[in-house]
Amino acid sequence: SGERKSRSRMPVQLSFEEIGGQERAKQELVEALDFLVKQEEIKKFGIRPLKGILLTGPPGTGKTLLAKAAAFYTDSVYVAASGSEFVEMYVGVGAGRIRDLFKDAKQKAAKAGKTSAVIFIDEIDVIGGKRDGGQHREYDQTLNQLLTEMDGIHTSETPKILLIAATNRKEMLDSALIRPGRFDRHIQVDLPDKKGREHILRIHAKNKPLHESVDLMKIAEESFGFSGAQLESVMNEAAIYAMREQSATINHPHLSMAIDKVMMGEKTDREATK
Ligand code: ATP
Repeated sequence: SGERKSRSRMPVQLSFEEIGGQERAKQELVEALDFLVKQEEIKKFGIRPLKGILLTGPPGTGKTLLAKAAAFYTDSVYVAASGSEFVEMYVGVGAGRIRDLFKDAKQKAAKAGKTSAVIFIDEIDVIGGKRDGGQHREYDQTLNQLLTEMDGIHTSETPKILLIAATNRKEMLDSALIRPGRFDRHIQVDLPDKKGREHILRIHAKNKPLHESVDLMKIAEESFGFSGAQLESVMNEAAIYAMREQSATINHPHLSMAIDKVMMGEKTDREATK
């Protein structure tokens, strides 16, 4: 259908090296993916196969990047959707879209000649929130459809489907989603620490003329509490300041100004939503 054209259709070529910090999350994810790849061994040991991985943590910390890297790492096609796409006025429409999402992933895998597909659902809490006994029937049907699709995941051999979902609010999720056999791997994706921030800044400085005197560890110190998305903004804003001044390179003051700007921006955003 038309409204899902916006979903990422581009080939995904994002490796774990392009994700700064998040060392523990990356390691846990790779372990889970390696496990997924060893299907034969898993069968031999009678281990229940992994169906879903849940990424939890604040916005802008790299959950989407991790899902894309997971697809690249496992040589899978990548199909993404957001929980809010499934919220509809009419009962059954959301459930139909879930069905289409899985069908779409399988078709894309077949077309690309791949044996697996990664389906990423951001904001899973929108459809996977706690059910309240008949109050929101359209949500219930959508969630039920998702559970049905998850139950079917390993019954057909190819293509293999790995579902990765993300939420900022794990405590909101219906228990049916997080019980064993559903999303049974949970990976916490926190705000980056200083070393992680330095790493993220370095990644986003790669294509920019940084003055040689700039110490990114200092910038990481100044940007305490920033998410990866905010750090990406800092680098971008600093480049804009440098260009505006017709400076050949980005220097420390440009970066400090950019940090202030991003911090202020967040404040006004928050004020506006009050
Ligand atoms: P949300 O919960 O808001 O969907 P998210 O955790 O999925 O956020 P991403 O979409 O992965 O966040 O990140 C947004 C952008 O921020 C990325 O495209 C990237 O530019 C930057 N970014 C975030 N985290 C990192 C990181 N760890 N390393 C490098 N860049 C990052």
